[in-house]
Amino acid sequence: MSLLSVVIPSYNEEENIANTAEVIGRILSDAQIDYELLFVSDGSTDGTYAEVCRLSETDERVKGLQFSRNFGKEAAIFAGLSAAGGDCVAVIDCDLQHPPETLVDMYRLWEEGYEVVEGIKSSRGKESIFYKMFAGIFYGIMSSLMKMNLNATSDFKLLDRKAVEALLSLNESNTFFRALSFWVGFKSTQVEYDVKERAKGKSKWSFSGLVKYAITNTTSFTTAPLRLIGIVGFVMVVFSIVLGIQTLVNYFIGTAVEGFTTVILLLLLIGGCIMISLGIIGHYLGRIYEEVKNRPRYIVRERTGNLTVRK
Ligand code: UDP
Ligand code: MG
Repeated sequence: MSLLSVVIPSYNEEENIANTAEVIGRILSDAQIDYELLFVSDGSTDGTYAEVCRLSETDERVKGLQFSRNFGKEAAIFAGLSAAGGDCVAVIDCDLQHPPETLVDMYRLWEEGYEVVEGIKSSRGKESIFYKMFAGIFYGIMSSLMKMNLNATSDFKLLDRKAVEALLSLNESNTFFRALSFWVGFKSTQVEYDVKERAKGKSKWSFSGLVKYAITNTTSFTTAPLRLIGIVGFVMVVFSIVLGIQTLVNYFIGTAVEGFTTVILLLLLIGGCIMISLGIIGHYLGRIYEEVKNRPRYIVRERTGNLTVRK
């Protein structure tokens, strides 16, 4: 019988662990699916990992590991993928915002031969207008740059072992799971789900966190901002040829001097453009520097006894 590994990134979710394990466990047992629950505690500072340990003592199928500090959800997902022993691996949030019943549909599709089953949000659930707008803009830009519709995608997915191995073989340290699962290809399909309300606790995202997430992911996936610099430069050259000819003509007619305002405005504009361009280049340079250092994506501090480390 095949085994389904459910990877559950959890950061300070102590009040959700027991309930989440119970709910997912019950749904999967009812559907007669052989499973393991893999809680990846992303450097939680509360009792999250202790909860996982407590559960794993009575239930062999509950496993978990704890990071040495908070490395972020992406790192937690990848740690889960690499520790999972199943023939297929699903990733689901700890707060039950991703309906666990959908796991069963995903699993059935996997049995039919699909290798990547994407969870697609049919509604975005309860989010503030501000968050919705921000997410809309970010995904709009990302989708057009990457030529795939990301607005409805989430980290809720089920992957076949082959796709998992493909993802694990990528050695970039800055990953974007949501888009990489498209990038690896394979035979894929989608399942729609309604985003539920958070079970307990609060969302861990802050606005600055989201902005950073948006920038990091855009630049880790595309070099379009760099190309944009070239385009802006080209437009400026065309503009300066026109202005140059006008200036020369004025000079020869003898109506030059004046136009000091133009000089100041041009200086400001060009200065601004150069600074922004340098900023963009600098950002990419920083990213290259980070990748070159080749640090591990995460550091594991502890794992539950029943979690065997795969080579
Ligand atoms: N999460 C994580 N590391 C982090 C932040 C969040 O592993 O640094 C987990 C969190 O425990 C939850 C999931 O990622 O299981 C989604 O987080 P959250 O519910 O806070 O985000 P939202 O649903 O608002 O996007
Ligand atoms: Mg959530």
